[in-house]
Amino acid sequence: MKIIMLGAPGAGKGTQAKKIAGKYNIPHISTGDIFRANIKNGTELGKKAKTYMDQGLLVPDELVVDLVADRVNQEDCANGYVLDGFPRTIPQAEALTKALKELGQKMDYAIDVDVPDANIVNRMSGRRACVGCGATYHMVYAPTKQEGVCDSCGGELILRDDDKPDTVQKRLNVYHEQTQPLIEYYTREGILRKVDGTIDIEEVFGQIVKLLEA
Ligand code: ADP
Ligand code: ADP
Ligand code: ZN
Repeated sequence: MKIIMLGAPGAGKGTQAKKIAGKYNIPHISTGDIFRANIKNGTELGKKAKTYMDQGLLVPDELVVDLVADRVNQEDCANGYVLDGFPRTIPQAEALTKALKELGQKMDYAIDVDVPDANIVNRMSGRRACVGCGATYHMVYAPTKQEGVCDSCGGELILRDDDKPDTVQKRLNVYHEQTQPLIEYYTREGILRKVDGTIDIEEVFGQIVKLLEA
């Protein structure tokens, strides 16, 4: 099963992608996580990506496309995967469609997690990320057992720089301009499915499982 998660920053793509990956035993591939790991390790890719990420802009397509094409070719992706945060532009989507076609494959579902802008800024200001393992929590909606400490690794939790309100507004604008057109792209491909992302995390997951098993 090959799945793309679509939705605004903070819509809950990562949260749901992890749950899907766990239930169906397929890898969760987050381009944001890959970039953050590269930044942490001080790689050339990380240095390049950081200048864009800090400004709330997208990393250029050419730095993302090959990376994902290589990743989905790895052995653990043989039974499928969940893409979270890719594609984010029409050229990325076209490159993915082409890469899959060359392998005689196609995407199964593009799931749009729908959350209005008005909810997003509030949601992002409560998001906390673990500096150790990258796990994501929310102060109100997905709290850790002990405040400020990661449940999985004991690491410290932070508010990502790009989750501060000014940058979130900019990322939302970028989303509407560059990423939202993918909803139409995948509607035309016949694989778009929409879920209401405003209800609680387990209920959103329930809708997704239902559509995957329909
Ligand atoms: P969120 O989950 O909040 O939407 P991500 O962790 O997916 O954020 O992405 C963080 C940042 O990484 C983005 O704002 C962007 O700068 C960069 N990024 C991640 N994926 C891509 C991509 N497919 N294309 C371009 N930039 C990307
Ligand atoms: P994305 O990957 O789309 O940027 P995340 O999965 O990181 O979004 O979710 C953004 C924030 O909102 C996180 O703090 C997460 O815990 C929280 N969250 C995710 N889904 C929901 C939901 N259905 N209701 C309330 N909060 C949620
Ligand atoms: Zn952790």
